[in-house]
Amino acid sequence: YSKSHGKNQLTLFSFKILDEFTSRINLENDLKKAVLNDELRLYYQPQVFSADGTVRGAEALIRWQHPNGKLIPPNVFIPLAEDMGIIHEIGNWVISEACSQMHYWHTQYHFPLTISINISPIQLLSENFIDIAFNLISESQIDIRSVEFEITENVFIYSLERTINSLKKLSDRGIKLSLDDFGMEYSSLNYLGTLDINVLKIDKAFVSSIMVDPRRTKILDAIIKLSHQLNLEVVAEGVETQRQLDYLRSKKCDILQGYYYDKPLPSSEFETLYLKNKDTTF
Ligand code: C2E
Ligand code: MG
Ligand code: MG
Ligand code: MG
Repeated sequence: YSKSHGKNQLTLFSFKILDEFTSRINLENDLKKAVLNDELRLYYQPQVFSADGTVRGAEALIRWQHPNGKLIPPNVFIPLAEDMGIIHEIGNWVISEACSQMHYWHTQYHFPLTISINISPIQLLSENFIDIAFNLISESQIDIRSVEFEITENVFIYSLERTINSLKKLSDRGIKLSLDDFGMEYSSLNYLGTLDINVLKIDKAFVSSIMVDPRRTKILDAIIKLSHQLNLEVVAEGVETQRQLDYLRSKKCDILQGYYYDKPLPSSEFETLYLKNKDTTF
């Protein structure tokens, strides 16, 4: 099932990019080399506490710096990597790189930011993932309490039982867990009662409904309230405007992320803007 699912995720935009390669096979070969040749990059997007404007942390978002000069977005190559079976290698690299970078920032700036790392369902449910992940985190020397894994709802279509087990093992050993893209695809309120999660990330589709679509905005309000009743922190993603920010703040949405603050940034720019002046509020 995972094969066809991955392919379906390729959007029209992806096919446009694919067109520029002579075939999918070429892209696959290039992707294999990308891993060996160090062409993968992590960008960092700030997350800001809505209450006081201080930085909570960063989400690590992968990009592929293709030798042809193009920066290829994850929606294009992550599904391909899942199909090809190299998502494990890529995913492990992401954990290691993101945790090492954040540990470096912690020691350099004495500022305990959280690092949020996207985990593919295929990675999460693979045989040795839990042990491998903990080894990588411990090698990076980061305090595990600063590590958050983001899991998307579509992990549930593979196996609810295995997902529950994996999340419990991660959570028992101190990793924060966040449910990404909430409300879009396979959300069931039942999961919220079963899973060991700490954070709920509301999909940007709900944020873009603010002042535009009153019914969806009511759903957004309800998700925030429900999360708080379940003691979950709420992140809004895709915050682009001052009006959206004001609205989310008035509804006590805990954490905000989006182009309003910044796009995902290369590590050096993130460092300059969010760590060198760490007392700045946003
Ligand atoms: P996501 O985890 O839901 O990440 C949020 C996406 O929204 C990112 O796209 C981010 O750049 C974009 N975004 C942030 N703020 C705004 C905004 O204000 N407006 C709009 N329109 N977009 C905004 P990106 O970086 O292209 O990543 C897309 C998806 O690829 C991610 O969605 C995640 O599912 C996946 N992904 C990214 N990095 C990794 C990774 O290291 N591993 C895995 N397995 N998946 C990854
Ligand atoms: Mg995410
Ligand atoms: Mg998301
Ligand atoms: Mg997404």
